[in-house]
Amino acid sequence: MDFKEYIRVIPDFPQPGISFKDITTLLKDGEMYRKAIDEMKEMVSDLKIDVIAGPEARGFVVGAPLAYALGVGFAPIRKSGKLPGETIELGYDLEYGKDKLAMHSDAIEKGQNVLIADDLLATGGTIATSVSLVEQLGGKVVGAAFLIELEDLKGRNKLTDINVYSLMKY
Ligand code: AMP
Repeated sequence: MDFKEYIRVIPDFPQPGISFKDITTLLKDGEMYRKAIDEMKEMVSDLKIDVIAGPEARGFVVGAPLAYALGVGFAPIRKSGKLPGETIELGYDLEYGKDKLAMHSDAIEKGQNVLIADDLLATGGTIATSVSLVEQLGGKVVGAAFLIELEDLKGRNKLTDINVYSLMKY
């Protein structure tokens, strides 16, 4: 299955030098969206997963249907100031810019096995921060799953000791 045919690559977005991998062209095709999620489910089938955590916004688009398919819960990782309950927060650097991520303090039970899901692994900053948040809450990160991995940016190296899965590599 060549999922890459469904990814639109836009040069110099959102700033010069970034080759943006637009997944909306995959998402709008119902059959391919489902196939992509089904294949991600297969990729992580050896893991014991209690909860999926995904960073907004595209981590929701991948993580929530995967959680539904696996029959496990979903914990949103959001930008600072969006979650209504008590939160923990962490700052991090992006491929472009800086940000702060937050999770509800009660999003993960101590000892739960957590899979982190997102659309794309670039520098790994977002996912490394997500891993730290989950670990601070007492969760055990058993893997990180992506639609796309940008291999040149070596985000994988930031995720030592974690199984990293990606459907497409650029
Ligand atoms: P990073 O923290 O560098 O691994 O960046 C990961 C996040 O930034 C992902 O959630 C993507 O949504 C977004 N992102 C970074 N680089 C790109 C890119 N070249 N194309 C599309 N999205 C990107």
